[in-house]
Amino acid sequence: MKSVRFFILTLTLLLLAGCAAPAAPAAEPCRYELAAMDTFMTLTIYGLPDEEAQAVLQQAAARIHQLEELLSVTSEDSEIYKANHAGGEAVSLSADTRELLSEALALCRDTDGALDVTIYPVVRAWGFTTGDYRVPEEAELATLLEKVDDTQARLDGNRLALPEGMELDLGAVAKGWTGDRLMELFREAGAASAIVELGGNVQALGARPDGSPWRVAVQAPEGGYAGALEIADKAVITSGGCQRYFEQDGVTYCHIIDPATGRPARTGLASVTVVADRGVRGDGLSTALFVMGRERAEAYWREHPGFDFILLGEDGTAAITEGLEDCFSLCGAWEDRPLEIIRK
Ligand code: ADP
Ligand code: MG
Repeated sequence: MKSVRFFILTLTLLLLAGCAAPAAPAAEPCRYELAAMDTFMTLTIYGLPDEEAQAVLQQAAARIHQLEELLSVTSEDSEIYKANHAGGEAVSLSADTRELLSEALALCRDTDGALDVTIYPVVRAWGFTTGDYRVPEEAELATLLEKVDDTQARLDGNRLALPEGMELDLGAVAKGWTGDRLMELFREAGAASAIVELGGNVQALGARPDGSPWRVAVQAPEGGYAGALEIADKAVITSGGCQRYFEQDGVTYCHIIDPATGRPARTGLASVTVVADRGVRGDGLSTALFVMGRERAEAYWREHPGFDFILLGEDGTAAITEGLEDCFSLCGAWEDRPLEIIRK
């Protein structure tokens, strides 16, 4: 059995360095790197004096660790862990956890359960949190799925009650929501522009210091880059089968689970990249659209304005929604392939 973790971060950074136009000389970046939330992160801000910038980045790192401690599904001190082990009793949540959970539950309902934050017992059975990978029996999955239903989570003010045996996992939205908090912090600190990479999530405040858009790489499933996207003030968030998976008997099992079956989502998509104003929405939707597959993803997009997406198919095809027509192009080995535009 083989387990692999890819971190898009490093590749994205390379492309940013390789393709970016030279920055305006006056604006020196201040950068901070850390490992948190089970991934590597890079935070870069511009437009503040060095000491101030360092202090803001320290605050940002502290905020990330604070959110990780609240939201971790495995740490026994986290609010999520306590809620998951409360035996059906209600627990009190901090403002952060409550707000994120409330947004996440709304997305679960909106995506018709393609996103389901009560999927944790199933994710654990496959070994994705422990690294003890295995393929559960159908009967085991059927039993675990009885405990998966986000509509049963009762959030009333800051009190949360889960039916006994139900367990939350905010892993599909936590990094996106963290990105939003970082943008807030940087904006309030007076940074002119900033970009963060939280694993496969990229989020930008403003444009580059010289006013040009940020260039963000979209990873090809086989490695390298499939495309480049120009953005400002957006979250660019990718969910894909190649980000975390294991192989057994020649079959690849990815960490995104279809709550309808309890099995890794397999819809022919290699990855979904969502471009949205807010990280939490981009993160929730990238996971949900990966579960939905192309047809349902398109239908969802037509009914829910305000975001765009890039789909890379396992068959090597690429499609984008029309809002990205002027800011996305295929590159590298994908450069000469047709790019389909999905229209309203
Ligand atoms: P990543 O965390 O690698 O950026 P995602 O944002 O797509 O990727 O989130 C995947 C994580 O979310 C999984 O590791 C698991 O913890 C959880 N998860 C898996 N499937 C679902 C689902 N259908 N709904 C909600 N959460 C899910
Ligand atoms: Mg996600």
